[in-house]
Amino acid sequence: MSTPSLLILAGDGIGPEVMTEVRKIIDWFGAKRDLAFDVSEDLVGGAAYDVHGVPLADETMAKAQEVDAVLLGAVGGPKYDDLDFSVKPERGLLRLRKEMDLFSNLRPAQCFDALADFSSLKKDVVAGLDIMIVRELTSGIYFGEPRGISVNANGEREGVNTQRYTESEIARVARSAFELAKRRGNKVCSMEKANVMESGILWREVVQKVHDEEYPDVELSHMYADAGGMQLCRWPKQFDVIVTDNLFGDLLSDVAAMLTGSLGMLPSASLGAPMENGRPKALYEPVHGSAPDIAGQGKANPIACILSFAMALRYSFDQGAEADRLEKAVEKVLADGLRTADLMGPEGGSPVSTSAMGDAIVAA
Ligand code: ATP
Ligand code: MG
Repeated sequence: MSTPSLLILAGDGIGPEVMTEVRKIIDWFGAKRDLAFDVSEDLVGGAAYDVHGVPLADETMAKAQEVDAVLLGAVGGPKYDDLDFSVKPERGLLRLRKEMDLFSNLRPAQCFDALADFSSLKKDVVAGLDIMIVRELTSGIYFGEPRGISVNANGEREGVNTQRYTESEIARVARSAFELAKRRGNKVCSMEKANVMESGILWREVVQKVHDEEYPDVELSHMYADAGGMQLCRWPKQFDVIVTDNLFGDLLSDVAAMLTGSLGMLPSASLGAPMENGRPKALYEPVHGSAPDIAGQGKANPIACILSFAMALRYSFDQGAEADRLEKAVEKVLADGLRTADLMGPEGGSPVSTSAMGDAIVAA
């Protein structure tokens, strides 16, 4: 097998700081586990704008299409707030998502025991939690036509959005969820509102069909999305993989995220269609942004980006055991009491720096 390739786009703000820590981990895998990556680095966001006048150069886009996985830090910052919309840093990320056709957004909600007190929920509700929300990312009500604000027949202004889902759009994100479930707890819960929405009726039907024809061994259940939100807060450990549409996924993944604590802990992946090697096109990134308020101060928590690389190990490089190894190392440093500033409770304490956290994870 050829050396797996990884394109690193560190971006702006704390992006490069947290990515430095990921590089230490990549180097460790090369040296200690004989797991080398063909790593290239390039610019995205404001950093790309400063050099190329655009937030993502065509050559970078082409490179992203060729590699096995892209790992992105964060984009944006106050320096770029007044830029024209067409060259805003965020447009670089949107272009990547669109041209790579990343229709399946994976947001894990994983609670490390050492941080269980951090959740707003009772400790036994979240301790050991490990669920994955799969959100359809490129269709649904955020994109459907017609849309707009216009004056209706009664002379009153009216805001319109349209939810549309085709069978193939539903089927591909369902497949993505079933594939994930096979590598996890083998259980998928599909959420929609088939009781009040036509797109929900079709969603339920198509997910069931994909299941029956292609993944009969995965356990499938269906739930109305509102009930799903309630169950996520009541007893989230009943779920393994949740698959849902763009709108409900937006809401439910934010709810699930806050089951676990800090923004500095949350990884994500966006997956597209399978490539020749059978693995999907993929972009991995922390959920957090560029955090301009703490950039350049060595305060950023690198764990979200490190866990994003762990997802890459698992879903793009077929290295599930090594992903486990990395996640265990994160768990160990947290259990040892190491905390970056964002993980300190109101009682305070002495936080460690970004690089000290990275070094400790490498050592663990
Ligand atoms: P975006 O628009 O890109 O989402 P944002 O300003 O809405 O950016 P973040 O950049 O994620 O959101 O920052 C939100 C808050 O969380 C900030 O106070 C930031 O300092 C904090 N934060 C975000 N990421 C981290 C991290 N990795 N470590 C520590 N604190 C973080
Ligand atoms: Mg934000």
